[in-house]
Amino acid sequence: MEQTLSNKAELIELDKKHFLHPTSSIQAQQKTGAPLVFTEGNGIYLKDMEGDMYIDGMSSLWNVNIGHGRKELAEVAAEQMNKLAFSSTFSGFSHEPAIRLAKKLADLAPGNLNVSFFTSGGSEANDSAIKLVRHYWKVKGFPERKKVITRKRGYHGVSMGSTSATGIPEFHAMTTSLAPDFLYAPTPYIVEGEFTEEDLMKAAQEVRKMIESEGPETIAAFMAEPIQGAGGIIVPPEKYFEEIRNICDEYGVLFIADEVITGFGRTGKMFGLEHWDVVPDVMTIAKGISSGYVPLGAVMINDEIHRELIKYSKGTLFHGFTYSGHPVGCAVALKNIELIEEERLIENAAEMGQELEKGLKYLEEKHWSVGRVRNVGLLGAFELLADRDKNTRFDATQGVAGKVVQECLKRNLIVRSVTYEGTDIIAIAPPLSITKEEIKDIISIFDDAVSAVETTLK
Ligand code: PMP
Repeated sequence: MEQTLSNKAELIELDKKHFLHPTSSIQAQQKTGAPLVFTEGNGIYLKDMEGDMYIDGMSSLWNVNIGHGRKELAEVAAEQMNKLAFSSTFSGFSHEPAIRLAKKLADLAPGNLNVSFFTSGGSEANDSAIKLVRHYWKVKGFPERKKVITRKRGYHGVSMGSTSATGIPEFHAMTTSLAPDFLYAPTPYIVEGEFTEEDLMKAAQEVRKMIESEGPETIAAFMAEPIQGAGGIIVPPEKYFEEIRNICDEYGVLFIADEVITGFGRTGKMFGLEHWDVVPDVMTIAKGISSGYVPLGAVMINDEIHRELIKYSKGTLFHGFTYSGHPVGCAVALKNIELIEEERLIENAAEMGQELEKGLKYLEEKHWSVGRVRNVGLLGAFELLADRDKNTRFDATQGVAGKVVQECLKRNLIVRSVTYEGTDIIAIAPPLSITKEEIKDIISIFDDAVSAVETTLK
C-alpha cells in the first residue's frame, strides 16, 4: 500500500481514538500521537511512513534477534498456515511442528532441561513456570512450598503472576492487588555511592537469609534473569549465580532462569546462564525463539521434575493456553533457530559484542558523564552520572537519560532508557546480524547525542 502523509495523519488520529498502547503514556499519546508509524523492516533498520530509516538499536523489544525482513520465516509461516494453520495440543492431540521444536529445544538447552510447555510469550511462560513448580511441590506432598523469591529490579512480564514476580515498583503501582506469595530479594546492583564486587555479592547471601527467615519448607523457587534487562542491563558478579545455585541446592529450592531476553544468542551464547556454567531447574524462553516474527514462548523443565510429574500428577493438568504450541509459531521458531545456527549469529553476537564494548569504552573515555559501561554480547548499557568517580546521580528531574534517548532518536537511532530509582541508564541490544560498520554508526550517534546533552548540563 502506498503511504502518504494524509494517510499518516489519518492513522495517527485513529491510533489516538482506538488504540490503547502497551507500556506507554496514555496522556502523551493524546498530545503527540504516535510520531513513528513503521511500515517496513530490513536487517537492523526500520522504515517509517515518511520513508525515514531508523536503526533498531533495541531489536524492537529485545526480540528481533535475527534481524528484520527475513523472507525465509515468512515463507515457512505461509507454508505451515496453508498446511495446518491450527490444531489443538490439549488432551490427546499433537502436531509435528510442536514435537520437533520441543526436541530441538531439548538439544539446545543446558543440562537435562529436556521438556517444554509452550506459551505465546514471556509473561505466560513465567506464569506457567510458577504454576508448574507450585503444582510439582503440591503433588509431591509439599503444598506449603509455594513462595517464589524474585529480585528487585527484576522484570518478568505483566500478566498477574509475572507482574507479581516483577520487582520494579512502577509495575506494581499501576494497579491495586498483586498475587500472593512473592518475595523480593536485593539484586547485585548498587544505585549510588562507591562499592566493590564483594558488596555486590552480598545480594546472594540476602537470598539465603530470606530463605532461612521465611523457612525453606515454604519456598517453592527462586527466579531470576541471568542479566536483568528492563531493570537496567544488570550483569551479576562472576560468582553470583554459582552461589545462587548452591543456595538453592542447599535448601531444596528450585531455580527458575528467565532467559526471555538472554536466550537465543543475545549474549553471545545460546543461553545467558551458560556464561557462568550454571544450569537451572526450570527455564523460561520467548522473544528470540521466533525473533518476534510470531508470538511464542516456552517453559522448559528438567528430567527430574518431569519424572516426578509423571509419577505424582494425577488426572488432567489444568493449565493450558489455546495457543500452547501454535503450529505456525513452532514452525517459524524452528526455521529461526536453523538460520541462527547456519549463519553463526551467536558467534557474530559474541564478536560484535567486543566491538560494542570498545565503542562504549570510547564513549566513557571521551565523555565526563558516561560511566558504568557494561555489555555481554549484544546486551549493553552505559550510565549517565553526575560524578562517575563517586558514582553519584543527576537529579531525576533533569531527565538526563530521556534526553539522550531523544537526541539519539533525532539522529535515527532507537534505544531505551532505564530510570528506576533515579538511574540514568541507556540500554542497547541490536539484532545479532549487526556488522562492525553498523556498530560504528551506533557509537557515532551515541557520541553526538551525549555531547548534545552534556552541553546542557554544565
Ligand atoms: N521476562 C523478561 C526477562 C522480559 O524481558 C520480558 C519482556 N520484556 C518478559 C519476561 C515478558 O515477556 P512478554 O512481553 O513476551 O510477555
